[in-house]
Amino acid sequence: MSSLLELKNIKEYFPVMNARIFQKVVGYIRAVDDVSFSLNEGRTFGLVGESGCGKSTIAKVILQLEKPTAGAIYFRGKALTGFKRGEMADYHASVQAVFQDPTSSLNPRMRVADIVAEPLVINNSQNNSRSDITDMVAQTLMQVGISPDRSKCFPHEFSGGQRQRIALARALIVGPGVIILDESVSALDVSIQAQIMNLLRDLQEELNVAYLFIAHDLATVKYMSHRLGVMYLGKLLEHGPAGKIIEERIHPYTKALFSAAMPSHPDLIKEEVVLTGEVPSAFDLPEGCRFHPRCDRAMKICSEVEPDLKDVAENYQVACHLYP
Ligand code: SF4
Repeated sequence: MSSLLELKNIKEYFPVMNARIFQKVVGYIRAVDDVSFSLNEGRTFGLVGESGCGKSTIAKVILQLEKPTAGAIYFRGKALTGFKRGEMADYHASVQAVFQDPTSSLNPRMRVADIVAEPLVINNSQNNSRSDITDMVAQTLMQVGISPDRSKCFPHEFSGGQRQRIALARALIVGPGVIILDESVSALDVSIQAQIMNLLRDLQEELNVAYLFIAHDLATVKYMSHRLGVMYLGKLLEHGPAGKIIEERIHPYTKALFSAAMPSHPDLIKEEVVLTGEVPSAFDLPEGCRFHPRCDRAMKICSEVEPDLKDVAENYQVACHLYP
């Protein structure tokens, strides 16, 4: 399967300044710390973890809203750092995003037709005429289940689920290879969530688009993802096929994270692991395994040596001293 977008050893460190000593850097918040994974055509990579673990920072790095401190992003096998201006414009068209809150991401003063057409107008590499664009808007709205008759309406005239469909149409109109779905269904009612997820899956099958599905709700991640990355304090702790990770939950953090949300069997609820304690600060990370202050399996080595991601099966890696 061909890799469309690849992240290699991405780090994103934010400097922390001392307010009293002008511009003196006193340390770094390690928001993303040596993360690598790839997105394949027509497949979904799910990224899970507690809030503040670095998931959305990764989205910003991919969208070029943040410049990574280190590491490289490859698109169709070529490093973004070597892209010429035209290639970068194509990249921006090929990688689209849909965020959690369609109310703030859709301009309330613009009509739906103009909102959906906007990325096409900005990046009109095909030199489409006004009537071509109107036709494409109508076609894309139909693809997401919104009647083109309503294209002259404003966002407030739609429900939350419909607004998210409009946000999706705006992402789709330029024919992207990748769509980043950053908590895109989290704010919706469960029944609407299911409708949008089914729509996303249908569109993936039809258009062969890859998704980066970022969510804290594990049930939605399970439904959507082919591969999965479990993040904790900026690092991937478990990375592999979604079904296998959800079933086996090898890493103690994954085990704890998933037990609360989806017990592997109702009879096992009492034996499931509970995730306790506060997430440490990304500014002052614990020595060794960054999960060790909260881990019920912690050993002496865990507070001394940080475990690397190691293969536990084909295309399946875990960072934990229990699996050397
Ligand atoms: Fe727990 Fe140690 Fe594994 Fe970290 S390395 S998850 S502390 S057992």
